[in-house]
Formats: sequence, C-alpha cells, structure tokens
Amino acid sequence: MYEAIVNIPLQIHEDVHNEFRMHVKLQISELGKFQSKQDKDGSIRRTVQPISKTICAFLNTDGGRLFLGVDDNKMIKGITMSKNMIYHFFGSLRHMCEKFKPFNPISRIRVSILEVVTLADAASKVKLKKVDLEKEDSTDFPKIATHCVGGTFCDCFYETNQAPTKQYLIIVQVAAPDPEKPTVMFQNEEGLAYRRRLASNKCVYLDDLRRIVNERNRVFVDLHDEVRHEIDRLLKFH
Ligand SMILES: [Zn+2]
Repeated sequence: MYEAIVNIPLQIHEDVHNEFRMHVKLQISELGKFQSKQDKDGSIRRTVQPISKTICAFLNTDGGRLFLGVDDNKMIKGITMSKNMIYHFFGSLRHMCEKFKPFNPISRIRVSILEVVTLADAASKVKLKKVDLEKEDSTDFPKIATHCVGGTFCDCFYETNQAPTKQYLIIVQVAAPDPEKPTVMFQNEEGLAYRRRLASNKCVYLDDLRRIVNERNRVFVDLHDEVRHEIDRLLKFH
C-alpha cells in the first residue's frame, strides 16, 4: 500500500513505546546555542532534546516508534524537507549509530519516510504517501555529493526556504531487545545510557548499576529466584 488517509489527531499517545517530535536533530552536536536556555541560577537547560536519547532508551527498554513531524497535540504536521535533507538525515543517523557504545545498533533501527498531503476538504485528515527516493522528481535539486553530518549546519539546510520542499513524516522504528541474547546497555553519543519510563527517557548511571550488580549478594538479601536471575542477566552487559 502506497497511500493512506489518516485521521488527526492521531489515536496514538506518547508512552513507553511512542514519542512525537517536530525536529530531526539526532545528536547533541547538531543543536545550536539558541536551542538551550539559561536558568535564573545560571545553569544551561536544553530546550530541544536530541533524538539519540529516545533511540537509546528504546534500545535499552522494549523498542518503540519515534514520529518526527507530529506535534504535542498529536497532529501530523510533517517536517519541511528537500530530498537532499532526507539524505542528510540518513547520513546523520548512520553517524549517530557509529558513536553508540558498546556497538553500532543500526540493525535494530528501521526508517519510513512518508509525504504528508493536507486534504483541502477534510481538516481532520491527512493523506500519507510512501516516498520512493529513487523515483522522486529531482530535476530542480541536484543531489549534494557531500553532507556535513553531526554538526549544526550543512549546505542542504539552505534548501529549507527554497522550492522544492515537501512535508514529511519520518517514522523511526527501534526493535525490542532479543530476549535470547545477553542484555546490552547501550550508551548514546554523549556516553549516557537511558531507559524508557512511561513517556520519558531516564538516565541510568552505569557506575551505580555496576556497583549494585557487583554487591548484589549484600544489597539484595531476600530475592526471589526470578529477580535474582534478572539481576544476573545484567552482569552480562558490556
Ligand atoms: Zn546536508
């Protein structure tokens, strides 16, 4: 199926398996200074969070889907992009995955690109069209050979204000961990490990986790076998 009419707002909620974003900034290094704010006490707070945190949390919890181009009100707005910017996104995603530890998680990530077409006669619906990048008309915008991924700027960003851009919904799917394999605690490009709790990403401090695991016989005295088995699995994390 290449086209679908979808009701908005979406019936999906932000939860342990789903998150909505209105930007495509994957890594911390892609965020500009204007995307953080200084609090009264002088501390710097990010107003935009890099997507790598959520991907990391999905990898370490139970997988999930990131909808890029959906706002907080569950409306599919799409993100204004040119074809070059889509290629840039894929390059940036690969770059981000290479920085994850203990190994590259790209085999657990799938991306779908859908064009968002607003229907004039139905404000509560949008049409989603599957995009075939090979078949897309590219006469007006020659393919940029090199992209500057991982930074705050690339030449292809100039195309935002020029035709031809379209609205795209990008769905990043992260597969759940394989229960047959040893537990892996992934760390994002900042070296931080996250787990998903409800609709947010919680930082896991690996040093604390290691200490608990190493001292488990003293810390946990009355454990059920099942719980002890779960903790023993963590011992195998890289
Ligand atoms: Zn680029």
